[in-house]
Amino acid sequence: MISENIWEQLIFTIGEIAIILVIGFFLFSLIVVGISFYSIKKGRFYFPSLVKSGIVMTEGMAKGICKFFGLDDKELTAFSINLHNTMNQTAFSNVLPEKRAIFLPQCLRNSACPANLTPEGLICRRCGRCEIGAHIDVLEKMGYKIWIAPGSTLIKRMVKKYKPEAVIGVGCIVEVREGLELLDKINLVGMGVVTLKDGCVETLLNWHDLMDVAVLGIEEEIQG
Ligand code: SF4
Repeated sequence: MISENIWEQLIFTIGEIAIILVIGFFLFSLIVVGISFYSIKKGRFYFPSLVKSGIVMTEGMAKGICKFFGLDDKELTAFSINLHNTMNQTAFSNVLPEKRAIFLPQCLRNSACPANLTPEGLICRRCGRCEIGAHIDVLEKMGYKIWIAPGSTLIKRMVKKYKPEAVIGVGCIVEVREGLELLDKINLVGMGVVTLKDGCVETLLNWHDLMDVAVLGIEEEIQG
């Protein structure tokens, strides 16, 4: 009889703890979404460390809350990428350009691109059909190592082989978010630049967005 009571008490307590945890998680997600959208509205970051880890921890719930309130969850992801970049800005600026890498997505190329696929990605032939060639020249002059990546496997392989200390990843919003999470896990300083148009061919990039990140911490004379 006594042991039955103890079991009942135990199950009741576990149930209570579970309910408290679910409610706590929901409230935390709500706070993260609230601070994020308030920050977007005000154009400045409030509680950046809390919000950054909060978005990662509560991603599914936060998206559900966005949907419930009719908010665009893409806006939340874009915000988390901006936040990530802002928090990494100083660390990124302190890395020498020779120790930085840039990964461009192959979808930025012209559909008639004559680049050859090699074990180190696509090698641009500077044909002038898209803007990649001209920008690679400028960025390489600054010291960057650049790859046109046909997929994430190449990125992982090149990071392992060349061991950059900082990486700029260009891609659609989902690719950039996943890439930054991966870089965080392997303790590499990552900066994300999101393309203007998603898709598999002839996507669009505002090259000024990439150059704004690329010049961070670099002297004017090196920028050319
Ligand atoms: S400039 Fe380079 S990447 Fe662009 S289409 Fe020509 S070869 Fe391809």
